[in-house]
Amino acid sequence: MSVNEYDVAIIGAGVTGCAIARQLSQYSVRAVLIDAAEDVAMGASRANSAIVHAGYDCKPGSCEARMNVRGNELFETWCRDLSVPFNRCGSLVIGFDDDDAKTLQDLYERGLANGVPEMKLLSGDEARAVEPSLSPLVTKALWAGSAAITCPYQMTIACAENARDNGVEWRLGARVTSLTREDGCIRVAMGEKSLLARYVVNAAGVYADEISRMLGDDSFTISPRKGEYMLMDRKNTCVRTVVFQTPTKMGKGILVSPTVDGNMFAGPTSVDIADKGDTSVTAEGIAQLTEKSKKSVPGINLRAVITSFAGVRAQPSTGDFIIGISKAEPRLIQAAGICSPGLTSSPAIAEEIVRLIEKAGLSLAPKADYCPTRKAIPEFRHLSREEQAELIERDPRFGRVICRCETITEGEIVEAIRRGARTVDGVKRRTRAGMGRCQGGFCMPRVMEILSRELGAPMTELTKFGGGSRLLTGILKEVDD
Ligand SMILES: Cc1cc2nc3c(=O)[nH]c(=O)nc-3n(C[C@H](O)[C@H](O)[C@H](O)COP(=O)(O)OP(=O)(O)OC[C@H]3O[C@@H](n4cnc5c(N)ncnc54)[C@H](O)[C@@H]3O)c2cc1C
Repeated sequence: MSVNEYDVAIIGAGVTGCAIARQLSQYSVRAVLIDAAEDVAMGASRANSAIVHAGYDCKPGSCEARMNVRGNELFETWCRDLSVPFNRCGSLVIGFDDDDAKTLQDLYERGLANGVPEMKLLSGDEARAVEPSLSPLVTKALWAGSAAITCPYQMTIACAENARDNGVEWRLGARVTSLTREDGCIRVAMGEKSLLARYVVNAAGVYADEISRMLGDDSFTISPRKGEYMLMDRKNTCVRTVVFQTPTKMGKGILVSPTVDGNMFAGPTSVDIADKGDTSVTAEGIAQLTEKSKKSVPGINLRAVITSFAGVRAQPSTGDFIIGISKAEPRLIQAAGICSPGLTSSPAIAEEIVRLIEKAGLSLAPKADYCPTRKAIPEFRHLSREEQAELIERDPRFGRVICRCETITEGEIVEAIRRGARTVDGVKRRTRAGMGRCQGGFCMPRVMEILSRELGAPMTELTKFGGGSRLLTGILKEVDD
C-alpha cells in the first residue's frame, strides 16, 4: 500500500467519526480521519447539551432508539477508558398540566418499549424531593436514573487521540471536495490533494447529504436546526439533575442542567435555519431561554450567565439515523443524519459501523498491541497539594498559572499543544483555559504567546478556531520586556 492508500477513510471528525476511528483502531487496518476544520470536534459535537440520554424519547423500533439505549450502556466504560468526565446524575422530564401528564405517560411507555431501565413516574412533590429547585407548579415528572452528563468535546478529542495512538492518521484542515471511483477504490479529493480508500465512512454531520451525493447517493437530505444556549458561572448551579420540559415536535425542549465542570446551562432552542454554518446567538433565542428556564427552575440566577453559544443539529429527511451501506455505492458506509441523541449513541454507532465495514468486505484482524486507554492531561486544579508540588518539581511550567479563573497552568497548555491544539479554542477545549468568568479576557494573550512559542508561528498567524478567525491583524509597535 502506498503512502496515500488506506483501507478506510472516515470523513468527519465529530464524535461520530472519532468514535468510529477509535473502534476501528482495534484492528489491523490502515485508516485516516479527515475533517475540513483545523481541529476535531468543530461541528455539532462542540456545542450541544452534553446529555447521555436514557432513551425514552426515541420512537420504539427506530435505529435511534437502539443506538441510544446501547450507547448509554457503553458510555460509562468508554469515558473511564478514555479519562472523560461522566456523571450519572439522572434526569427529570417535568409536567405542569394534564396534557403534560399524558405526554409523560407516553414517554414512560416508550421507554419501557425501548428497554430503558430505572424509570419512574413521580408526583410534583416527589420530583421536588429529587430536585428541590423545581417550580412549585410542577405536578408530575418522569425520572430516568440512567441519564448522565459528560463533556462532548472531551469525548471527541479523547476518541481521536486514542485512535491516533493506535495508528489512525488525522488529516485536519482538509475539506473533501469530491469522491470518485477508481480501480475498485474511492479517490477522496481534498482540494489539490487526494488519497485512495477501499471504504469511505460518511460522518460529515450536517453536510453528510453533500458527501453522499458525491457518489450518486441522493436518498436523503439533511436540514440544519439551530439550538442556542446560556451558560452560568460555577458556584451558581442550583440543579443536581438534568431538568427537561415535555418534548414537542421540534425536539426535547429547553432544559436546565448541571455540567461536569460545575457550571449550569439553559438551552437549547430549536429553530430550523437555512444556513448550515449559522451558529449565531439571537435576542429572540435568549428571551426564549430566559422565559422557559425560569418556568422550570424559578430561582435560576441569570445574572451569572458568562457566555452564550449555539450548535446546529443535522435533521435527516428520513426521520431516523441513516446507518448502513449505501445502495448507490457499496464502498460508502453512511453514518449520517446523526441528530440528537447522537452523542449518547456514538459508541453504539461506532460498533455498528465497524460491523458494516466488515460486512462490506474488509477483513478485520484484531491488533495485538491495541491499547484501549488514554490518559487525560494532568488537571493541576484537582490535584492534592503534594501531587501539585511533585508535578511542579518534575516540570516547573505546572507552577505557572495562566488562566486564573479556572487555575490552568502553562504545563497543561503546552501538553494540549503537544497533543494537537493549534488554535486558542483548541487549547480552551483541551484545558479549560478561557472557560471561566472572564472568558479569556485575561489569559488569551498569554495562551497566544505560548501557542506562538511552541508552534514557532508568529502571533499574527494565530487564530481563534481556524480559517479566517485571526486574532491580530498586525503589530503597531515592538516594546522591550
Ligand atoms: C443543540 C444541540 C443539542 C444536542 N444535545 C445532545 C445531547 O444532549 N445528547 C446527545 O446525545 N446528542 C445531542 N445532540 C446531538 C449531537 O450533538 C450530535 O448528534 C453529534 O454531535 C453529531 O456528531 P457528528 O460527528 O455526526 O457531527 P459533527 O460533530 O457535526 O461533525 C461532522 C464533521 O464533519 C466535518 N465535515 C463536514 N463536511 C466535510 C467535508 N466536506 N470534508 C471534511 N469534513 C467535513 C465537519 O467539519 C464536522 O467536524 C445535540 C445537538 C445539538 C446541535
